[in-house]
Amino acid sequence: MSSPIQPGATIGVLGGGQLGRMFIEEAQAHGFRCIVRTDEAPGGPGAQVADGEFVGPFDSDEINDAFARCCAVITAEFENLPGALLADVARRAPLRPGAMSVTTCQHRRREKEFLASNTIPHAPFVVVRSAEEVCSALTSVGGRGILKSAAFGYDGRGQIRLATFASESACREQCRAAWAELAVDEAVLEGFVDFVREISVVGARGADGSWVAFPPGENVHVDGILDYTVAPACVSDAVVAQAVAIAEFIASALDYVGTIGVEFFVLPDDSLVVNEMAPRPHNSGHHTIDACSISQFGLQLQAVTGQSLTVPSQHSSAVMVNLLGDLWGVGGPDWLAVDGQPGCSLHLYGKASARPGRKMGHLTVLAQPGESRAALIDRALALRRSVVP
Ligand code: AMP
Repeated sequence: MSSPIQPGATIGVLGGGQLGRMFIEEAQAHGFRCIVRTDEAPGGPGAQVADGEFVGPFDSDEINDAFARCCAVITAEFENLPGALLADVARRAPLRPGAMSVTTCQHRRREKEFLASNTIPHAPFVVVRSAEEVCSALTSVGGRGILKSAAFGYDGRGQIRLATFASESACREQCRAAWAELAVDEAVLEGFVDFVREISVVGARGADGSWVAFPPGENVHVDGILDYTVAPACVSDAVVAQAVAIAEFIASALDYVGTIGVEFFVLPDDSLVVNEMAPRPHNSGHHTIDACSISQFGLQLQAVTGQSLTVPSQHSSAVMVNLLGDLWGVGGPDWLAVDGQPGCSLHLYGKASARPGRKMGHLTVLAQPGESRAALIDRALALRRSVVP
């Protein structure tokens, strides 16, 4: 392996959101400079803390070139990046994770085909390109399913739940309406999985192929968006071992370098089904900032700069609750309500405007001595409610 990239060097970050912001803060604390490449409005969450920003369409060779020339290494903070941009910048500087990892995880058909071809357990799926195909696929995935757009889906967007109806014509009508609503050329119809819980493994793979992982967290979604994570998850050691082994297998099959998030459904018999992979730090790993010996962003930094990875440990049980734009009433939340509460840390992302469903920040609450898991969850949710004036 080549020698690690030294502090003082510049790391390029593709994307300007909160994951980039938290990564940049970590990298700067270790002496690195960071610059952001975004096609969104300037001054976003990442740019507010970065050492520079390159703004403009992702297909601008000139901007991509100017950005990449400044970088000793480049990483990504979100996956919906054009393949041409990834190829473009990778010609100038090492891109970690690589373009194949990002393009596989950013697209549901490629992601599912990757899982299937590597015999990794996944929900039954059919790739569909018309309302008629949705209708016939519904039976083959078990009669109940979720239609998901192949590209640009996240946080439950571009998803419609479908069920078979008593009559064929009602079923056809439903599929026609769903296909029209989705308005895409290609989608994946996924069989509905009757899971008992959702967990995720956040881990990191180094440039030397080494692998480390945090204990899995347990995730509760509302309307397809992560609501809160309890870490560690309340699952058996066998489930932990199986989840971590599958995540490591995925990272290795992708020849991945960096932090990765792998989401799983846990079935009633404790077997696992992979839901999806995120080629970046993951929302369900945010508690690692406050609850672990090194955070998911610290591991991302070690991996992309070619250092050896620290084996992480979790020193406190934690609940991370997302703060969505829905909490913003007139005048905004009352953050002083959570200030100084035991074990509670507030992380705000600096987004200019709040919208329902938009991730504006998160709260991490660490368990206090003698506090049960149920009491910790109740306290974290009550703290979130307390900020609404
Ligand atoms: P996704 O954006 O694909 O992760 O979906 C968001 C959430 O929708 C997941 O975390 C699950 O709670 C739910 N979901 C997605 N796919 C399925 C499925 N095939 N069966 C049951 N629930 C699902």
